Amino acid sequence: MPEKKSQKTLPKTPPKKRSEAHARLAARIADAGPVSVADFIAEACAHYYATRDPLGAAGDFTTAPEISQMFGEMIAACLADAWMQAGGPPEVRLIELGPGRGTLSADILRTFHNWPVLAGAVHLHLVETSPALRARQAAALAGHDNVFWHDRIEDVPPGFSLIVANEFFDALPVRQFEKKDGAWRERAVGHDAEKDAFFFTTLPAPDADIPAALADEDDGAIYETSPASIAVMKTLAARLAAQDGLALVIDYGYEGPAAGDTLQSLRHHTFTNVLEDVGEQDVTAHVDFTALKAAAESAGAAAHGPVTQHGFLGVLGIAARAQALALKATPKQRRDIELALYRLTAPSEMGTLFRVLGLTARDGKIHPAGFATAEGET
Ligand code: SAH
Repeated sequence: MPEKKSQKTLPKTPPKKRSEAHARLAARIADAGPVSVADFIAEACAHYYATRDPLGAAGDFTTAPEISQMFGEMIAACLADAWMQAGGPPEVRLIELGPGRGTLSADILRTFHNWPVLAGAVHLHLVETSPALRARQAAALAGHDNVFWHDRIEDVPPGFSLIVANEFFDALPVRQFEKKDGAWRERAVGHDAEKDAFFFTTLPAPDADIPAALADEDDGAIYETSPASIAVMKTLAARLAAQDGLALVIDYGYEGPAAGDTLQSLRHHTFTNVLEDVGEQDVTAHVDFTALKAAAESAGAAAHGPVTQHGFLGVLGIAARAQALALKATPKQRRDIELALYRLTAPSEMGTLFRVLGLTARDGKIHPAGFATAEGET
C-alpha cells in the first residue's frame, strides 16, 4: 500500500494575496488594539474604490443608472422642474456625489437638452475620491464643457444647486453597537496574527446614544449609526438652506430606529464575508432614512419623503417613457426596456427597498415632483 503522505509533504495552497488595506489594518490593530467597525469599513472602502471600477457585469454590483437611461431621465425631469419652479436661475450647479461611471450625470445632461436654457446654465460638479472612477467619469462625459471634480461637497463653489446621490450613502462607514450582557458596546474588528484573519469583537465603552426605542433589545442585537452620512447630510442641507435648490438622495434602506446588522459585502454579484478579502470587495450598509431626514431638518432644510423608488419613478412617468422608447425599438430592445422597467420599479426588485429623499430650502419656492404618491405626500 502506498504510504499516506504526511500533512507536511502535501502541497501547500499558495497564501492568499492580501491588499494594502488588509496589511494597514492588521498593523494598526497590532499596534493599538481592535478598530471600530466604522474605521474598518473606511479603510477597506477607500482601497476598494481607489483601485478599480466596481460596477457592471464584470464588476461586483450594478446600479439603477447602469440598468437603464430611463432612471437618469426621470431624475433629470424632476431636477428641471425644480429649476423652473425656482424661476430658472441663470447659473446652476449640478452636483453628483459618488458618480461611479458617470452614467447618471451623462444621462441627466443629455435630458437637459430638452430645456436648452437650463442646459446652457449648468456647470457639473462631481464629488469623487477615487482616481480610477474619476477617469471613468471623464471618459463618460467627454465632449461636455464645465465639468469639475472635488474631494468633498464643501469644495463645490456656492450657487443654486441641483444635487443627486445614488447609492452614495450606503458606501459611507457605519458604527455598530452590540448588546452584550445587558449593556450596549461598540462593535469592533480584531486581528488574529497567527491566522492572519480578522474577527468581530467589542470595545468596552460605547459613547453613542442608543435610541430609547431600542432599550429593551435582547443580547446580540445590533444598532447602526453613520456619523459620516449625518455630516454629509448636514452640509447638503446647509447649502440648500443658504442657496436654494433641490437634492435627491436615492438608496436602499429603512426607516429607523431599528435593530439589525445590515453590513454586507459583494464580490462578483455574490454576497461574501465582510471580514475576508479586505479592500477587494464592496462593503456597504443599509441607509437609515429617518436619521438622514432628521439631520437635514436640523441643519435647516425641508425634507420630502422618503418615498419608494417605485412611487417616485411612477409619478414622474417612467411607464410612459418606456412605452415611447419601445415604439422606436427592435424586439430585442423592447424586451430590454421592459426588463429594465421591471428591475427599477417592481417591489420584488428595486421598487420598495430603494427610497428617495428630497431636500429643499425651507419656505423656498420648490415643491419637488415625485413625492406625492398614491399614499399621499409623507
Ligand atoms: N452613483 C453611482 C456609483 C455608486 S458606487 C451609481 O449609481 O452607479 C459609490 C460611489 O461613491 C463611487 O463612485 C465611489 O468612488 C464613491 N465614494 C465612496 N466613498 C466616497 C467618499 N467618501 N467621498 C466621495 N466619493 C465616495
